[in-house]
Amino acid sequence: MSVVVSCVALALALILGGYAGRLSTAATLEARAQLAADAAALAAVAESGPYGRASHETVARRFARSNGARLLRCWCEPGTTSVQVRVALGDATAEARAVLDPAALSPPPPIVGTGGMHPLLEDALDRLMRAADGSVWLNSGYRSPERQAVLWQEALEKYGDPERADDWVARPGDSMHQRGLAADLGGDMALAVQLIDRLHLPLHRPLPNEPWHFELISAHR
Ligand SMILES: [Zn+2]
Repeated sequence: MSVVVSCVALALALILGGYAGRLSTAATLEARAQLAADAAALAAVAESGPYGRASHETVARRFARSNGARLLRCWCEPGTTSVQVRVALGDATAEARAVLDPAALSPPPPIVGTGGMHPLLEDALDRLMRAADGSVWLNSGYRSPERQAVLWQEALEKYGDPERADDWVARPGDSMHQRGLAADLGGDMALAVQLIDRLHLPLHRPLPNEPWHFELISAHR
């Protein structure tokens, strides 16, 4: 059996694996051995993921055992994204192979509040705009990758040169807006800066050519 794992599918499979040991005795040994193998392979391959500790074989053995089986072999090189195991349960043996979804290897996205903005950014903007009492407003906050692609294309048409377009609009994937960590404000920018200072808001203006573009100070680039 070959499976592609995402984090959610993995959690589900491990839960199923946990129940396997309590299946009625009517369940065939083969089926139970297969479940044990699946759980062991899934758990082992997750060791290559962002939260894993690269102890593939130890984890495979533990999950095989918790499902009533014995790990016979684990084809699991450190750092691999594909693990194969063979387990025995009574007279039955089973093999399973699990492949880690490359998406599961990327770092988790930043936590974003409603509207896609980071909650700290949302909170700071809320306080800023309340204090500005209508003189400062939000022009652009969170942008989806699709929206960012449209904006970059527009900049390319406007400036006629990719390098100049890059000076004004981040490419899709690069934008702090897309990560929910930036906002473009409109209105009285001098007042905005004064209020940020007075209220100790975690906002700054990192781009000299875009005085309207504010980012969360604690944001990791
Ligand atoms: Zn911006």
